[in-house]
Amino acid sequence: FFIALEGGDGAGKSTQAEALAEWIRAKGHEVVLTREPGATPVGKRLRSILLDVSSAGLSHRAEALLYAADRAEHVDTVVRPALERGAVVITDRYIDSSVAYQGAGRDLSPTEIARISRWATDGLVPHLTVLLDVSPETARERFTEAPDRLESEPAEFHTRVRSGFLTLAAADPGRYLVVDAGQQPEAVTTVVRARLDRMLP
Ligand code: C5P
Repeated sequence: FFIALEGGDGAGKSTQAEALAEWIRAKGHEVVLTREPGATPVGKRLRSILLDVSSAGLSHRAEALLYAADRAEHVDTVVRPALERGAVVITDRYIDSSVAYQGAGRDLSPTEIARISRWATDGLVPHLTVLLDVSPETARERFTEAPDRLESEPAEFHTRVRSGFLTLAAADPGRYLVVDAGQQPEAVTTVVRARLDRMLP
């Protein structure tokens, strides 16, 4: 069973991913908690290229392809093998992040970005995508560390990213759970658990 957590920076994805992993493990499933970019050795190198401030000005198409390369390696070496042995895989970010950031956020076609990711993953789609939706203003209040390259993008960029995510969710409501991530983390976890309780094998 394959779950993706998506949403803007500061939406609380990693907190939710950990809470869900713990809850699903307690039900007796093997859980693989993973993330993009940077879950594999090559992915870690790609992540440092992508997030380093010295990559400011990186070509948008090159950026999109590096995210896709990270994803291809992630799916081939981590996600698919885990799913094949029956584990529940929770990934912190997946295809939708590329469509929202490199597509809606930049000037590239979201459809083309989705197509590249479909090829990179050989069509692997999550059973459920949880979109943690939060306003960029609320998200920004949560940043405590120095901003990385993306977090220092202007507010309009993050607003476009947010609507990119919401557009994807609206197009396929059966496969998405959109949660108001401005709530307390415990309230968000409760909503996600309720949905998963009905879906998990
Ligand atoms: O979720 P995480 O903090 O690991 O993401 C690292 C950075 O990469 C974030 O600033 C996020 O906005 C950015 N990102 C991106 N495009 C993606 C995935 C992540 O710009 N496809």
